[in-house]
Amino acid sequence: MPIATVDPATGETLKTFDALGSDEIERRLAVAAAAFEQHRTTDFGHRATLLNRAADLLEEDRDDIARTMTTEMGKPIAAARAEAAKCAKSMRWYARHAAELLADEHPSAADVQDSGAARAYVRYRPLGVVLAVMPWNFPLWQVVRFAAPALMAGNVGLLKHASNVPQTALYLGDLFRRAGFPEGCFQTLLVGSDAIEGILRDRRVAAATLTGSEPAGRSVAAIAGDEVKPTVLELGGSDPYIVMPSADVDRAARTAVTARVQNNGQSCIAAKRFIVHADVYDAFGERFVAGMRKLTVGDPMDESTDVGPLASEQGRADLEELVDDAVNRGATARCGGRRPDGPDRGWYYEPTVLTDVSPDMRIHHEEAFGPVATLYRVTDLDEAVRLANDTPFGLSSNVWTRDDEDVRRCVRDLQAGGVFFNGMTASHPALPFGGVKRSGYGRELSDHGIREFCNITTVWHG
Ligand code: NAP
Repeated sequence: MPIATVDPATGETLKTFDALGSDEIERRLAVAAAAFEQHRTTDFGHRATLLNRAADLLEEDRDDIARTMTTEMGKPIAAARAEAAKCAKSMRWYARHAAELLADEHPSAADVQDSGAARAYVRYRPLGVVLAVMPWNFPLWQVVRFAAPALMAGNVGLLKHASNVPQTALYLGDLFRRAGFPEGCFQTLLVGSDAIEGILRDRRVAAATLTGSEPAGRSVAAIAGDEVKPTVLELGGSDPYIVMPSADVDRAARTAVTARVQNNGQSCIAAKRFIVHADVYDAFGERFVAGMRKLTVGDPMDESTDVGPLASEQGRADLEELVDDAVNRGATARCGGRRPDGPDRGWYYEPTVLTDVSPDMRIHHEEAFGPVATLYRVTDLDEAVRLANDTPFGLSSNVWTRDDEDVRRCVRDLQAGGVFFNGMTASHPALPFGGVKRSGYGRELSDHGIREFCNITTVWHG
């Protein structure tokens, strides 16, 4: 993939970049390793000062970086500004909480004595240089949710960002440098995915985190496994959105629209499969389809746009293939199912709701990365849970119910890294984020996220 900014609203190539050569990659690795030796010895207070400064700068830059993101990957401009604000907030959260999240742990006096120690405790020490392979869909947030805890823990980062968001990637490297992090603490490497293996196998790289598709995750995990280096994988999702008879159907339908089309439908945690009890199926379906129809599809720089273009021509072609396969096998498009009328420039696709979906259709098992929902009717919670779990993915899940027994069953039975009731899945720095099954492993955010790249060290005194 060329490293370039190509505006998804027009298809126009605005700027191209050369990939770093091997000498420059070698120099950056050396700088990162040297930076780690220094950064790991700094205290939490110092790191927090730098991270808070990065948050200040990001807030100042909010409007500019939002425009860059929208130009590079097409998210509506208001959402881009919100993403930048969320990143600043999360940086401050880790600046404030890292010391307590990584405080020494002390086993009980009885257990210490039983181990034969005079004194024993656990210390969270940083691992070293961490390679972050990141996707374009939340081009700031995906990176910051890795970088903020990693830097606070004393690790240093090497960012290999998606090839279609190079200006956002360069901005991030620059942001941490301007905030005062020494050279090498956080570097953007403009490289293609073919350079990842060499970097990951380098002895100076301790670990990797990847957010992206399953093939990319499998490749990085295989290399890291061969090198015995830890990884965190945040991969795709096809989250269920279950609506039960006790739900507030009106609110469930309104939220469903946002949950499906946020970020032009290109979010791993977007609700993608809508599984609705027969008693409320018609009421929910009508409202949901009407809500999807009402959305404004258009120029993402326009403040009134709800849904912008897909990020790439290939992304739209993949989505079209999924929808066409379903329709050819008997699915019904209740709305959308095609490109919108109007300008033939830009990679737009109409918000779509498919019914009559069956397991022989690809969309039943694959992730639809765009504004396309599948709507299923079920007769009880057993069937809803069975259908919800009938996917290779297990990122998050949503359930609309006011029934305590439904809640108990869903928390027990849904195969996902999150179960969100009466609302849509969202991330927050205080709550762990990640999946099971083919959605990956490991967690980001919260205490779990910051400890992923730590050496959990037993300190024992005889
Ligand atoms: P992608 O094609 O996998 O790209 C993600 C990153 O991996 C990019 O930096 C890409 O580099 C790199 N990459 C691609 N192929 C690779 C390979 N074979 N080996 C190593 N690295 C490789 O994914 P995407 O299209 O950007 O993002 C969409 C996917 O990410 C969706 O499946 C979505 O659900 C998932 N996602 C998951 C989460 C989560 O938190 N679980 C969050 C957001 C997105 P190039 O750009 O240079 O190819």
